[in-house]
Amino acid sequence: MGRCSAAAIPVTTENPSPNPPRQPERPSAAEVSTAPRAGSKKITVLVENTAQGVDVLAEHGLSYWIEWGAQRVLFDSGQGIVLNGNAYKLGVPVHEPDAIVLSHGHFDHTGGLAQILRDGCPAPIYIHPAAFDAKYARNRDGTSRQIGMPPAVQEAFRRHAQNIVPTVSATAVLPGLTATGPVPRTTDFEDTGGAFFLDAACCRPDPLVDDQSLFFETPKGVVILLGCAHSGVVNTLRHVDRLSGHKPIRAVIGGMHLVHASQARIARTIEEFRQYDLQLLAPAHCTGMRATVALWTAFPDISQTCHVGITFEFEAP
Ligand SMILES: [Zn+2]
Ligand SMILES: [Zn+2]
Repeated sequence: MGRCSAAAIPVTTENPSPNPPRQPERPSAAEVSTAPRAGSKKITVLVENTAQGVDVLAEHGLSYWIEWGAQRVLFDSGQGIVLNGNAYKLGVPVHEPDAIVLSHGHFDHTGGLAQILRDGCPAPIYIHPAAFDAKYARNRDGTSRQIGMPPAVQEAFRRHAQNIVPTVSATAVLPGLTATGPVPRTTDFEDTGGAFFLDAACCRPDPLVDDQSLFFETPKGVVILLGCAHSGVVNTLRHVDRLSGHKPIRAVIGGMHLVHASQARIARTIEEFRQYDLQLLAPAHCTGMRATVALWTAFPDISQTCHVGITFEFEAP
């Protein structure tokens, strides 16, 4: 039973005030464990590069827990170092999801899955086949390092192959909750955001076709949950805009992979964001400090931190 009243739960507001406090005094999200309000969709951040609250920890990675009516979806699983502990502290039954979605094959989004699957979790796993490719990043000195799915996760997938739902195109995970599938690359200023390759010699660039996001509609617009947005966050917004039939995009939460982006790319991203009537922007994970500061400066009234323990709650359609 939570120790705070329902009214004190840190949730997003349907009508953000013109100048909400940037860092509002909030009860520790780690100390509250409450069901979502009737008819709402609730997202709890389980893994992120920052943490706030008692006994929760950060790591370089991302994972969300989505409460969708009576059903629960695990979206990404972090590296696996802090997932279990954070879930326990946040009152999240992370080993009992009804569905699992993976944004792409990098270790910081898939590593925690081995422990989830070890217990025989029967949930369908929505993932693009290219997420299983070997994946490397080139180091500054020209050497490379593996950044793909860890061997224990690959092995767990072999045992749960029957549970895999390949997201080769936009795919409904639950009624109203959609995985984008591969995102068309339509902008002329975005790339995958790093020196990513399919081989250790760094000869074959990794286009990260496995990259996907989740989105859902609310009465006031579409909410997008990003993994790393290696396809480009603006490409992702454009793709969701098309998939949703041009419904207004209301919220963008998650990793935008602008950590190595040029000032010009960050400026173009902000320019593009202004074309949408966004009400909530929560850059996280691989967005990077420079881009995060730029986004918060450009959109001060709608920007929100996105750390382990925070929850976002939205009205259902
Ligand atoms: Zn990634
Ligand atoms: Zn990442």
